[in-house]
Amino acid sequence: MAHISFENVSKSYSTLNVIRDINLDIHDGEMLILVGPSGCGKSTLLRMIAGLESVSSGAIRIDDRVVNDLDPRDRDIAMVFQSYALYPHKTVLENITFGLRMRRMAGDEILRRAKQASMALGLDAYLDRYPRQLSGGQRQRVAMGRALVREPKAFLFDEPLSNLDAQLRVQMRMEIRALQQKLGVTSVYVTHDQIEAMTMGDKIAVMNRGGIEQIGTPLDIYDRPANEFVATFIGSPM
Ligand code: ADP
Ligand code: MG
Repeated sequence: MAHISFENVSKSYSTLNVIRDINLDIHDGEMLILVGPSGCGKSTLLRMIAGLESVSSGAIRIDDRVVNDLDPRDRDIAMVFQSYALYPHKTVLENITFGLRMRRMAGDEILRRAKQASMALGLDAYLDRYPRQLSGGQRQRVAMGRALVREPKAFLFDEPLSNLDAQLRVQMRMEIRALQQKLGVTSVYVTHDQIEAMTMGDKIAVMNRGGIEQIGTPLDIYDRPANEFVATFIGSPM
């Protein structure tokens, strides 16, 4: 588990300010949902935690250590992508363990982790299959398995369900939340879907134009939107 914090963090691409002076605390074991319109900076903020984007000013801390200059590989954080990022020519087991093999982890430890993850995700009967032989939900579970076997301090999700149909999205949403609570892993989940935001997390941060308009529990936000932007965004149908 990890505590992640932002202290006056900004990010710009030449003259474009993409993240504006963000202060944010994500507590141990908490799931924070980051929601906001397209282009508001959600992915950039997530990628900064992962170390895939640099910080222009301010500090990001993981467990009280400033990580601004820390290599992504040393951050112990796993990103969950959409299921279409699976390797089509590798089996489920190979997809799940590929990252560990690249890290030259011992074979028996790799197997132990793969077994544990596939049990947790209900994939134990599918380890020899290829992605094309799986349903959409199973593919999404494999994508999560890849993150799970790393046993990271935190999970980052960037709209992982946006290419699934509505019914499957509801189911996967519940599965991800249940797994996150069972493991107690600090997580940040990005979505532009208000309903996903209101139902999945411990807290929601509503973003607009690179800043955080409001952060609170789903009820806080629903009952007491801080301003017109939040009220309009949360209250409007997708
Ligand atoms: P979101 O995930 O909320 O849709 P992003 O974080 O992807 O938003 O992007 C925020 C803003 O930063 C957008 O205006 C986008 O065009 C811009 N942006 C993202 N990456 C780059 C980049 N590499 N160079 C220049 N501008 C970028
Ligand atoms: Mg994005």
